[in-house]
Amino acid sequence: MTSTNGKAAILIIYTGGTIGMKDSGSGLVPFDFSNIPDEVPELRKFDLKIDACTFDPLIDSSDVEPSMWKELAERIKHEYDNYDGFVVLHGTDTMAYSASALSFMLDNLTKPVVFTGSQLPVGSLRTDGKENLVSAIEVAAAKDADGHALVPEVTIYFNSQLLRGNRATKVNSTAFDAFRSPNFPPLAEAGIDIRYQRNLIRYPSSFGAQLTVHTGLDTRVAILKVHPGITGQVARNVLLGDGIRAVIIETYGSGNAISKPWFVNIVKEAAEQGKILLNITQCLAGDVNMNLYATGKALKDAGVVSGGDITTESGLGKLFYLMGEYSDNEKVKALLAENLKGEISK
Ligand code: ASP
Repeated sequence: MTSTNGKAAILIIYTGGTIGMKDSGSGLVPFDFSNIPDEVPELRKFDLKIDACTFDPLIDSSDVEPSMWKELAERIKHEYDNYDGFVVLHGTDTMAYSASALSFMLDNLTKPVVFTGSQLPVGSLRTDGKENLVSAIEVAAAKDADGHALVPEVTIYFNSQLLRGNRATKVNSTAFDAFRSPNFPPLAEAGIDIRYQRNLIRYPSSFGAQLTVHTGLDTRVAILKVHPGITGQVARNVLLGDGIRAVIIETYGSGNAISKPWFVNIVKEAAEQGKILLNITQCLAGDVNMNLYATGKALKDAGVVSGGDITTESGLGKLFYLMGEYSDNEKVKALLAENLKGEISK
């Protein structure tokens, strides 16, 4: 039991990003999160125990690295029995990457891990950060009648929507409505109350399960975005590059790429070298179907694996995780086709 004096306990982990900034008079600086209720007095109204801890150094999320995901996963593991839920404050730029990676790294999750952030610092007048933070805490603390977490998943709460972390993508650099989950509906929407879609939320087979953390990520992945005018040299450098174990090929439409023999032959050569080749569509929504057009079929025949309707952010995290777990590329390819954490429709 994690509750103290009957109150649920939430740990806020501040990693950096705009949300935790305030105007120092000479620019934005991160504020001291140990005094978070002073900055966000609304938090005092919660009947919860709310603690906060801070990453050192705090980062603009554009600087996020897998080592930080490991630190985050290990910190959650370390504090797991002390809290009912976790809120991760994170810059928006790479939030979907981090939430995706964590969804694979945290196994047997029975408690909420809610990522949030904001477009305007929480210390600025028109901030979206307060609502995001307050609602993210509410989601992290939400329980059903049996005392189990309502959303025991890695999620992103932003602008009134709760999205599955490994389905989300940042779509707007300036609007408050910055994230979308194009291929899966929101897990909850906040209006005058928060409406949870319990039929969409993933629940563990047992709430007594032990959290397992996978931190052995293998990052030898490259991303090749096909485009008109792509040269053989570029395709070769990426697909046949040294030190690259897997390539995400970002294709057109339903998984189509250049059907000319020069391109297909490079893809074939990469597959023959044993490389893991994952096909993800450049489209915001929809999925890869390599049986639809001859251009997609050529990739399939060459040994490319379909990413289905996975996002690139999620595909990257899934590859890092699977390659860290398995040295056998065939095993990785087989598991890429499986729905592990709700990241693909299947
Ligand atoms: N560049 C910032 C970051 O991702 C933007 C933000 O915080 O939203 O850390």
